[in-house]
Amino acid sequence: MNQERRHRLRATCVLSLGGFSSGAPERLGRFLDIAVSSLLVLVLSPWMLLQACVAWCVSGTVFARTRYFGRDGCFDKLAFARVAPGSDLACLLNVIRGDLALAGPRPVAVSELGAMSSAALLRFVTRPGLISPFRLQRSVGIAHESESVAENQYALEQSLAGDVSLLLRWIPARFVASAQPVAAAPPTVRMLGVSIDNIAMDEAVARLTSHDRQTPLRATFVNPDCLNLAYENETYHAAVSSSALVMGDGIGLQLAGRMLKTPLEANVNGTDMFPRLCERAAKEGLSLFLLGARPGIARAAAKTMTARVPGLRIAGWRDGYFEEAEEPDVVETINRSDADILLVGFGAPRQELWLEKHEARLRVPVRVGVGGLFDFYSGRIPRAPMALRELGLEWVWRLAREPQRMWRRYLVGNPLFLWRVLMQRRKGDA
Ligand code: UDP
Repeated sequence: MNQERRHRLRATCVLSLGGFSSGAPERLGRFLDIAVSSLLVLVLSPWMLLQACVAWCVSGTVFARTRYFGRDGCFDKLAFARVAPGSDLACLLNVIRGDLALAGPRPVAVSELGAMSSAALLRFVTRPGLISPFRLQRSVGIAHESESVAENQYALEQSLAGDVSLLLRWIPARFVASAQPVAAAPPTVRMLGVSIDNIAMDEAVARLTSHDRQTPLRATFVNPDCLNLAYENETYHAAVSSSALVMGDGIGLQLAGRMLKTPLEANVNGTDMFPRLCERAAKEGLSLFLLGARPGIARAAAKTMTARVPGLRIAGWRDGYFEEAEEPDVVETINRSDADILLVGFGAPRQELWLEKHEARLRVPVRVGVGGLFDFYSGRIPRAPMALRELGLEWVWRLAREPQRMWRRYLVGNPLFLWRVLMQRRKGDA
């Protein structure tokens, strides 16, 4: 089948979905796209003209064109022919022409089309955008869904307010975004003397759910607060370092990875992982034991998740407030439950030290320290809205909710962590 015919077929498929935006919001969106990109072209015109002249002199042509597929069929995405900072600015002309919008699903090169599933084509119900939701989430390490899921969802729910909010979130996100491509990421990243496994969310979930029952696997999430603790407390440092899997949690670690020029692939935090872990566990027939938080909280979290994830087995739960003398009893309860995965939410460093202390007595193969996770899933503490998480500001939300408990962790701990990372960079100990 020739290429043009294939494109026509795909376009027909898109049209048959019948989801094109239309009407007043569409016209207003288009008007804003034209107004903003024309203004940008006007302001940046000296730089763009210079780029155009250099491209013409060096390459004999002003634009490099790449064939893309969008809402209305194929188009040429423009860039200045000589690659230089800002050569991509030429695609503002695509926005004015109507091939692209400022915000929308990532445009797809014609060369990519062949490898795309038909489900992924749903994104074409709307104009592709220069700024896409998936790219925004990936830049701050929270793109845990596949690209097509994120882009399709955005395309189907597209609204003017959503577009404006995406553009507004994108501006500050640029400051925390990873500058280096994920492909450049090393397998482990060393921060303040701790080696962090540089893996994406899916891989972390796979490691926890495909582990054999013979050897125990202890896994730890580390955020800036944990790394500060590990820096100051040798026992905790040893407990973290002896974990088989260390996952980097939070925007602070993304920033630090960038400062050390060893970018972390993803923000692998327990709160985002929990539903994914439950889904995978249900699929694999694995059961979970939830240990930690105030009385009633682990149980409420178990209830929420069993209602949400069909087939999920919670083998047991227990609160995290007990005396040392009760510990053998707690271990016995966990062992009797015959759970496959134990989640311990006592907060750091207690959970890691507790897991290390009972390493030999526990029979559950996979053990993970998860912090205040159960509080979120029980509904005791609401999680930060997505827009704040995309800006890397979940910590501000937590600080606002529990200022007395969190001020030291965030207002003192975060700058101290970044300072220590800076010192590490100076010493070249990356
Ligand atoms: N916690 C516990 N036993 C204790 C002290 C704390 O189970 O002796 C629980 C507490 O109720 C909370 C969690 O440990 O659910 C600590 O949450 P934190 O917000 O400090 O952890 P983070 O998510 O920030 O790592």
